[in-house]
Amino acid sequence: MKMYVAGQWLDKAQTIEVRNSYDNSLIDTVPRADATDVERALQSAERGAKAMARLTSFERWKILHTAAEKMAACVEELGTLISKEEGKILAEGRAEALRAVDTMMESAEEAKRVHGETVALDGAAHGRGKFGVTIRVPCGVVVAISPFNFPLNLVCHKVGPALAGGNAVVLKPATDTPLSALRLTEILLEAGLPPEGLNTLTGSGGEIGDLLVADRRVRKITFTGSRDVGERICKTAGIKRVTMELGSNSPVVVMPDAELDKVATAVAATGYANAGQVCISTQRVLTAGKVYGDFLDALRPKVAALKVGNQLDPAVHVGPMIREKEAIRVDEWVRDAVASGARLVTGGRRQGALYEPTIVADVKPEMRISCDELFGPAVAVTPFNDIDEAIALANDTNYGLAAGIFTENLEWAWKFAREVQSGNLHINWGPQWRADRMPYGGLKESGFGKEGPAYAINEMTELKMVVFHLSS
Ligand code: NAP
Repeated sequence: MKMYVAGQWLDKAQTIEVRNSYDNSLIDTVPRADATDVERALQSAERGAKAMARLTSFERWKILHTAAEKMAACVEELGTLISKEEGKILAEGRAEALRAVDTMMESAEEAKRVHGETVALDGAAHGRGKFGVTIRVPCGVVVAISPFNFPLNLVCHKVGPALAGGNAVVLKPATDTPLSALRLTEILLEAGLPPEGLNTLTGSGGEIGDLLVADRRVRKITFTGSRDVGERICKTAGIKRVTMELGSNSPVVVMPDAELDKVATAVAATGYANAGQVCISTQRVLTAGKVYGDFLDALRPKVAALKVGNQLDPAVHVGPMIREKEAIRVDEWVRDAVASGARLVTGGRRQGALYEPTIVADVKPEMRISCDELFGPAVAVTPFNDIDEAIALANDTNYGLAAGIFTENLEWAWKFAREVQSGNLHINWGPQWRADRMPYGGLKESGFGKEGPAYAINEMTELKMVVFHLSS
């Protein structure tokens, strides 16, 4: 596919291959953008920002609503494209495409709700005769940088609210998975987006990332990706608005009164979807000592039953990881844990980019499989004695994106929600659950700022205060 810069679809002599990680087959190629393309995209985005700001809320609603309808009409095509380039199974690709439609619909609706409020300035001691209102205005040029693991929906979470708020966007999708983003670009243009309202650059983040994020014409950066790249962007960005949606090693706490079969079902569903490559995958299963053995007995057959293989085969539950290198890394972390005294309950075998769904028990918090972000199809099970120890273990991490607890005890559930340092808390489900309209984002090194169109628009617009000094 071509990339879209300054209102034109562009090829380049230098290209990047997009491959299916299951069999390494070539899906397509995309241009490798360089500094010249970044400059052209930024100049275009400045013009695009003016065009976007001139649109009424109704016009922005109409573009996004039409785009969502067009996406809904080609969900199968989008789902298959996601599945091929990312490696997630077809059912997950289709589910992501459907969620992306919702995200764009929500963004369309929110375009009509960008508003300020009146401020009671006469509440100030010197406020007689003063009248105030806030208004929300676009930031201008928004740079959106997205990760590989949800190549369509996470792009929609950035592009949808940014356009709804009246901004122009320069989008840099992940190099492993740029095709869904390019297809979305086509759809938005067909839906009536001003030609310079969006620029979609394909190319290596390591090569063009600094140029994009350091540029003073950019007023807002929205980034989803790894902690280390996020930190680099924060350091490079200078004084501009930044949203960071970063990684995690999400815990789930299994209290002694939990319904173990339900917990096992939830862990099997939330620990291995998309081969564990979800920022809110269940990674650490903290289990009350009293039910530790029974829980492992309930979990093992459910995980062992997950079939690994070609993501395009409808009988397969877990597809390949994004690259073989990542599967090798997961294997090393599992082996390291076992060499340090942990126990392999099931899985632990690799074939190319495929990694068997794995359970590792008796994991110590300092083992890498527990304290770092694994981002792969394995869970680490660790025993605890009481709720205080469970909460301390859950918090014993630099991350804080999502966490879950299974209990029927209200006191424990509320204590968990109050004391666990995490942006999303789930009572009686695993951490991997999201409705695209909810406020979503992390604490600590999982980032800052919220996504979910209604919340993201606040991050993508500036609040101005207008004071009327009235004589009467
Ligand atoms: P990544 O390696 O950090 O890459 C993310 C994006 O950043 C890619 O587009 C990448 O481009 C770009 N990038 C790389 N270096 C850059 C630089 N110096 N300047 C600017 N951009 C740069 O992450 P990933 O492997 O794609 O995704 C997995 C990570 O994302 C995990 O940590 C996961 O937890 C996190 N994630 C978080 C959320 C959330 O909502 N909190 C959601 C999904 C994923 P290239 O592809 O060209 O390198």
